[in-house]
Amino acid sequence: MKAEPQVQRRLLDLQAIDTSLAQLAHRRRALPERAVLEALARELSALEDERVRAQVAVDDLDRDIARLEKDIDQVRARKSKDEARLAVGTGPARELEALQHELVSLNRRQGDLEDAELELMEQRETAQGVLDGIEAKLADARERRAAAEQLRDDSLAEIAKEEEFKKTARKPLAADLPGDLVTLYDKIRADTGLGAALLAAGRCGGCRLELSGADLARIRKAAPDDVVRCEECRRIMVRTNESGL
Ligand SMILES: [Zn+2]
Repeated sequence: MKAEPQVQRRLLDLQAIDTSLAQLAHRRRALPERAVLEALARELSALEDERVRAQVAVDDLDRDIARLEKDIDQVRARKSKDEARLAVGTGPARELEALQHELVSLNRRQGDLEDAELELMEQRETAQGVLDGIEAKLADARERRAAAEQLRDDSLAEIAKEEEFKKTARKPLAADLPGDLVTLYDKIRADTGLGAALLAAGRCGGCRLELSGADLARIRKAAPDDVVRCEECRRIMVRTNESGL
């Protein structure tokens, strides 16, 4: 393949842009915010599980307390009924005595139930404290997630802007070069990531290998507009005054 030396040198400008584009694509894939967000997602999921468990504990205690309240209400209702009957004071003496015994036992039962309720209410306060603590941690983690998402989005927007800038510069550069040369360059670049490299100080800029004496002799004999390629890596080697020929 033939191409004027100044045309070949422009391949290096094209390669510089393509290298920048490859670095930008890598930056997008390797954004540190991605790892941060993955870790935060795991943290949030674990906290969410904890929150559910803590909520269940509070709900269970609420249900137990409600059950006790109902029992206490029943005892109170029974007591009122007994007291009303005693106040009337009519009826056989044995019956009135039985009512008085029942009242004593109802009072004791009420006291036991109220003690149990107090105990549960203390447990509920502790359980609510645990739940509040988890919810505070959740709110904090969600805030950190929002901040990390913002950072990621800012980075992505910046990368997209730089890519747009490089692509805008690439278009006229590639359009000005001969089509067959660009096709060859693109093909080698697709295979190896690098289509053209500078031949500098007797080394291929692509694979960095020092060229053999026979290679150097072949390249020295080549016409300036011959497109020469590295025997090792097949990349286009662009010759300049620094090529050490
Ligand atoms: Zn090479």
